[in-house]
Amino acid sequence: MEIQLEGQYLYKLNLLQRGPSGNSYRNTCHVVKNNITIDSNGNCFICNCDGWLPVPVGQVDDFDSFESVFESDIAQYLQKDIADKKYTYCSTELCGVSHEDVCANPSLYINIDNSCNLQCPSCRIEKVMHINGEQYNKRLHQIETVVEWLHKTVQELDVIMSGNGDPLASLICRPLLKNWPLDKHRLTLHTNGLLIEKQLKNQPVLDQVNQFRISVDAGSAKVYSQVRVGGNWDTLIRNLDFVSTLKKPTELIFTVQNNNISDLENFCQLVEHYKFDGSVTQLDNWSTWGRPGFEEWTHANGGDFLHHDVLDKSHANYTYARQMIQHCMTKYKRIRYTPAIATRLEL
Ligand code: SF4
Ligand code: SF4
Repeated sequence: MEIQLEGQYLYKLNLLQRGPSGNSYRNTCHVVKNNITIDSNGNCFICNCDGWLPVPVGQVDDFDSFESVFESDIAQYLQKDIADKKYTYCSTELCGVSHEDVCANPSLYINIDNSCNLQCPSCRIEKVMHINGEQYNKRLHQIETVVEWLHKTVQELDVIMSGNGDPLASLICRPLLKNWPLDKHRLTLHTNGLLIEKQLKNQPVLDQVNQFRISVDAGSAKVYSQVRVGGNWDTLIRNLDFVSTLKKPTELIFTVQNNNISDLENFCQLVEHYKFDGSVTQLDNWSTWGRPGFEEWTHANGGDFLHHDVLDKSHANYTYARQMIQHCMTKYKRIRYTPAIATRLEL
């Protein structure tokens, strides 16, 4: 089978190194057999990240169940490629299979709508909010198809929404949350946190939330206003206060960039204050910033990605970033660092 990618999928494929590295010749991926990600084009991917394995295996509406996604010709071709340890289309370093076997519970990542109440420079070049029209109707229909999958499957799934927008701000995802039809699946809400109390207080779906993952990217009002454009620090703190009363597993997320590295220790203290967990991740290029050789496709106009990517060895603040991360790693034990951070900093 010949796989031909175009547009953003070809761009994503070329953005990262593909193929085996480290121990991936020996290590096994189980994720490719039980994880699905759906992107904002309604395409399905058999990985927990559509950047790590950016090959669509079909459209949501092509499949009548969660299980049938893994039976498509392309899905089976990719599974064989991975079983043969070729990893032709996989970012083996970022997903971690170059270090160890990777496995996960059966999971469904719903990234169907990228609407959000904020406009963070790392994520988008303009505000996105779908409230009507063709795109809105199409995505609403895709959500309805997914709800049918959730009803039909006998598996207990981890459902995660959303990796590319805010599910509480989205008029497409919000109705699903407010009328959550099932009690057998576990829900992870990935959100900027600003609408949690307003939208979820006293809602039945709160019982189904297994985990909150709240992307904060700052530890102070000043830095927050730069990296979370449109957000309000006091509103965030009010929502964190509310979440802390729920006694649910909660992780605050910090994506390292040049504009916030000096705020990492404040972030760690915020995590400690609430006794939440913390996660520090690297900045991915979501094509909102330019990169030599790629601008023609992305039309990015917010500056150069390398200027923001402080974990790049050539960056003027790389040494400072490395020291800051090492310092926080030693001092704050509630924070985990993704494997990519350790790899890039050679820790
Ligand atoms: S090997 Fe890595 S990139 Fe490929 S499917 Fe598995 S987890 Fe995804
Ligand atoms: S809050 Fe998250 S989804 Fe919304 S614009 Fe910022 S990074 Fe993107």
